[in-house]
Amino acid sequence: MRWLFVAAIVTSNLVKEYGSFRALDDVALSIDQGDLFCLLGPNGAGKSTLIRILTGLIKPTSGDVNVSGMDLKTEAKQVREKVGLISERVILYDRLSPFENLLFFASMLRMDRKSAVERIHLLLEKVGMSDWKDKPVRIFSTGMKQRVNFVRALLHEPSILFMDEPTLGLDPQSTRTIRNMVKELNESGVTIVLTTHIMSEAEHIAKSVGIMHKGKLVSSGRIEDIRSSLNKDQVIVTINGTPSISLKGIDGYLSESRLNGVVKINFQQGCTIEDILPRILQMKLEVIDIEHKRPSLEDVFVELTGENS
Ligand code: ADP
Repeated sequence: MRWLFVAAIVTSNLVKEYGSFRALDDVALSIDQGDLFCLLGPNGAGKSTLIRILTGLIKPTSGDVNVSGMDLKTEAKQVREKVGLISERVILYDRLSPFENLLFFASMLRMDRKSAVERIHLLLEKVGMSDWKDKPVRIFSTGMKQRVNFVRALLHEPSILFMDEPTLGLDPQSTRTIRNMVKELNESGVTIVLTTHIMSEAEHIAKSVGIMHKGKLVSSGRIEDIRSSLNKDQVIVTINGTPSISLKGIDGYLSESRLNGVVKINFQQGCTIEDILPRILQMKLEVIDIEHKRPSLEDVFVELTGENS
């Protein structure tokens, strides 16, 4: 039987031990094709170890990894042809220009020279480095180097791009360029898996997230689904006037604040508007606003790991 839909990445029972230390503990991860997946977690959670295993750089102690339908154990070479990796460590020769560097890497990938030159020009243009293509890399800022490094990882048109803290320590312009390119690549169908410890970065660009803590994948899925599963939404109802009756009798009442002739009533987490509204209407209160506060990714993270990011 042929599968109609092949996931980009599936791992099961994945374990990595360094001596007696377990850096990855029974990780079962599934990432859809075309996803933009952010792996979140504090330093030491195991994010880089996972990325290094998924790209074939290191071997797991036990467990299985499947990339685009291929088993990493038996088809490592084919997997490497499909994936690209950008990490914080920039792999470029300082004495050479971006153009020379990229041509060198293209020849290692056995690309033919004409299409390599075309692709290098196109990608350098996209990352705003065309004017610098013939200058030695050694004079570049970290952000400029990372933009060229980004092009290097895209030369062989990978269908899955892994990025390990790609914007760590970069200037705002380089960060913006890389984020825009990530979005553009993802829109053109490339699956993106990136690690970050910056919640706001994930919240802005991710379609799905995985939260790692002490080697375990404690939650993964679409951001909205993870938020809902926490059952921590909060409803705030504003009513007109300052009623003389006590509002504490409304089921789920938490607290209230009175200001400028209105009352804001905060309800306990998990109370839905359907629970609350009948009683409010029965009390003949005039509702002028209903606010629905969802937990931020930061709230989700703290709830699941007990740590601040
Ligand atoms: P993250 O990327 O989330 O910061 P890492 O995957 O780099 O986490 O590290 C996870 C844990 O494994 C850390 O405690 C780290 O010290 C340990 N670790 C990573 N690489 C090695 C190694 N080569 N030898 C021993 N311990 C390692």
